[in-house]
Amino acid sequence: MHAMPPVREMEQAFAAHDASYDGVFYVGVRSTGIFCRPSCPARRPLPENVQFLATPKEALFAGFRPCKRCKPLHTDGRPPEWVEALLAQVEVDPTRRLKDADVRAMGLEPARVRRYFQRTYGMTFQAYCRGRRMGQALEQIREGTGLDDVILGHGYESHSGFRDAFVRTFGAPPGKSQGTGRIDVAWIESPLGPLVAGATEEGICLLEFTDRRMLEAQFRTLHRLFKRAVVPGSNGHLKKLQEELTAYFAGTLKRFTVPLVYPGTPFQRRIWEELLAIPYGRTRSYEEMAAAAGSPGASRAAGTANGMNRIAILVPCHRVVNKDGKLGGYGGGLWRKQRLLDLERGAASLPYETVSEAPSG
Ligand SMILES: [Zn+2]
Repeated sequence: MHAMPPVREMEQAFAAHDASYDGVFYVGVRSTGIFCRPSCPARRPLPENVQFLATPKEALFAGFRPCKRCKPLHTDGRPPEWVEALLAQVEVDPTRRLKDADVRAMGLEPARVRRYFQRTYGMTFQAYCRGRRMGQALEQIREGTGLDDVILGHGYESHSGFRDAFVRTFGAPPGKSQGTGRIDVAWIESPLGPLVAGATEEGICLLEFTDRRMLEAQFRTLHRLFKRAVVPGSNGHLKKLQEELTAYFAGTLKRFTVPLVYPGTPFQRRIWEELLAIPYGRTRSYEEMAAAAGSPGASRAAGTANGMNRIAILVPCHRVVNKDGKLGGYGGGLWRKQRLLDLERGAASLPYETVSEAPSG
C-alpha cells in the first residue's frame, strides 16, 4: 500500500484544485464512477461520493474509469508540473545541496515531495539528488578530472567522506570506476504509469513499471550482472527509448529498434528471444513458448523465465497468456497486461488513444 497524505489534506487539496498534488493521490467519484487528478477542473462532487486512492491501479481495480477531462492516466511523457520544476532546479546545479528550506521556497511541502519520490521513483528526493551528484562526479572522474578537484567541486569535506558517499551510491570505490561503464537510470512517464529504464553504453538493460516491488532487487541484480554502477542519468539509448515508447503508446510504432542487452542463462535467453519473435498484436501460450525454445513440457520454467524478463514491453512478455486464453501473470500488474494487449489489438476507446493530443488544462 502506498502512503497517502492525511484525509484532511487531500480534501483541502481537492477542493482547491491543487495541481501540486497530481500524482500524489487520485480521487474516485462514486456517483459517476470516474476517477480524477486532484487538479481536475470538473465541478466538485458531494463529499460523501468521494473516495481517495493512492494509484491509478487502485482506482481501476476499485471500478473507476479515468476522467475524460483531467485524464489521470494521461501523463504525455512528463511528470507533474511541480516535479518538473523541482527536477529542473536540481539540473541547474546538481552539485548544490537542496535543503528542505529550498524546497519550501519553491512553494512545496518537503513531506509531499518525499512521498511522491518514494512512491514514483522508489527513492527519496534526497537520494535522487545524491545519486545525481555522484553521477556527475563519476562522469568527471572518468573524463580524467583529478579526484581532489572532483571532491572539492562537489562539496565533500574529505576523501573518506566522498568515498563513503560514492560506495553508498555505486557500490564501487572511485579508483575502480575509472574505465568501467555505468548503468544510467531514468524515469519515463507512460499512460500506464511511470517506468524506470536503465541503459549501458551497449543498449537498454531495464524497463519496469515502478510500482513493482522488485525495483530495488532489480537494481542490485543489474549491479551484480553488469558489475557497473547504477546512477540517475541519461544516454542516447534512453532518449531513443523514450521516443519509441511515445510512438508505441500512440499506436504508431510496432517494432522497437533501440538496442537491448539481456544477459541470462541459456534457457532464459532462448525464452526471451522467442518473446522477441512474437509479432505485435499476437499472443502465445506458455506451452508454445517452451516448445519453441526447444523444451516442450517445460512450460512452468518458460513461465518463470518469462517473469524474469527485465525489459518490459520491448521484450514482450505481456504477449504470453494461458492456454485457456486467460491472462496469466504479469509483474507490472494484470490491468497493464490487458491494456498493452488491447493497445496492440487496436482498441479504440482506451486512454492512451489520447496520448498524442495536447494535455488538457
Ligand atoms: Zn477529472
